[in-house]
Amino acid sequence: MKLKKIALHWKILLGMLLGVIIGLVAIQFSGGQTFVTNWIKPLGQIFISLLKLIAVPLVIVSLSKGITDFKDLSDLSKIGGRTIGFYLFTTVLAVVLGLFLVNTFSPGSNVNPEALINLSEGFTASMSDKIAAADVGTKGPLSFFVELVPQNMFNAFTNNASMLQVIFVTIFFSVCMLLIPSKQTKPVKKFVDAVNSIMLKMVDVIMLTAPYAVAALIATLIAETTNAELFIALLKYATLLLFGMLLLIGVYVLLIMLYAKKSPKYFLKGILPAQLTALTTSSSMATLPVTMKCVEENLGVEQEISSFVCPVGATINMDATSLMQAIAAVFVCQVLGHDLTLTDQLTIVLTATLASIGAAATPSAGIIMLVIVLESVGFPSDKLAIALAMIMSVDRPLDMARTVVNISGDSCVSVLVAKSLKKLK
Ligand code: ASP
Repeated sequence: MKLKKIALHWKILLGMLLGVIIGLVAIQFSGGQTFVTNWIKPLGQIFISLLKLIAVPLVIVSLSKGITDFKDLSDLSKIGGRTIGFYLFTTVLAVVLGLFLVNTFSPGSNVNPEALINLSEGFTASMSDKIAAADVGTKGPLSFFVELVPQNMFNAFTNNASMLQVIFVTIFFSVCMLLIPSKQTKPVKKFVDAVNSIMLKMVDVIMLTAPYAVAALIATLIAETTNAELFIALLKYATLLLFGMLLLIGVYVLLIMLYAKKSPKYFLKGILPAQLTALTTSSSMATLPVTMKCVEENLGVEQEISSFVCPVGATINMDATSLMQAIAAVFVCQVLGHDLTLTDQLTIVLTATLASIGAAATPSAGIIMLVIVLESVGFPSDKLAIALAMIMSVDRPLDMARTVVNISGDSCVSVLVAKSLKKLK
């Protein structure tokens, strides 16, 4: 079989295998880790940058194309309403599932806190910046909307973290385009459509390098990996979190089967390239171009839906991250002996949901959210650094898995919204 004929996800999987081999070989030699850091890691970093550099322009042109293709503006509000509805539903479900699991299995009750604290000591020092990053100050109830509107749209366009502002400006611009006679806007429409095709091609070209980049990312991960002993100490927490994530994937498959009347294979095979990219980049935002490509080409969702639902989802819908908040927060309270009342648990549902909307779609964003959640239930601030260090010390592989589930949730909701508006091919 020629290499060209092999499906992308197989090539990426081969790349991962190659990465594992390179990583394992490298750690056998004394200078192996430095070699990987100097010569292999940059390949992975460049791949992530390539994906990120395309995210904002891709969202602008594809969303703008989607909206200006509409015949009727009422479609837009339907898409918006349904998207937010489905996203809230899956996020709250994830937090409640997390609370149910962690209370049922109590992974933190038989753990020796002293041993854990000793093991995670090395991480405590780097926690202060995470705690500082979570310091959101006091925000009013409408601050979300205030922040949605940028003071300068070009500033918003230059920052990947301002994706919601980018979406706002693009919708505003495109709706105004629809409000004037099409004759006047024709050159802009043609330009947007053409740039859209170019962007999609850029994603294709970037993905040609994915198998090699993935090999580099995995090799780096193995060469720079942390303490295995700690992972074993926190195995119960990690296993429970992974089990919860598996259940979430099950929920998505079920929703796809029941609501969209499609098979699990259609969904899981269709988004596999995006899942593998998420696994290796640990960033929903970096994965966004691939998610959009898979949702459109493999799941048959029309571009006007995917161009809105996917970027909004990458920013506000992080089901696995919300699940982790519930499990991690209760887990550290169990280990460190901080009792939680029912009201505290309900507070976790609310804060974790809101925090996941506000969190950035980047590696270890979940840890920063955890500070907000723990503070909301009155967790003693002198123990905060230890609690975070514990969770952080095993977070790398869990962050990878979370990102996979997060983008799967976005893809699932894209299908559901498309189905509800008869925009599923
Ligand atoms: N890395 C995750 C994402 O980008 C966020 C997190 O859970 O830390 O989806």
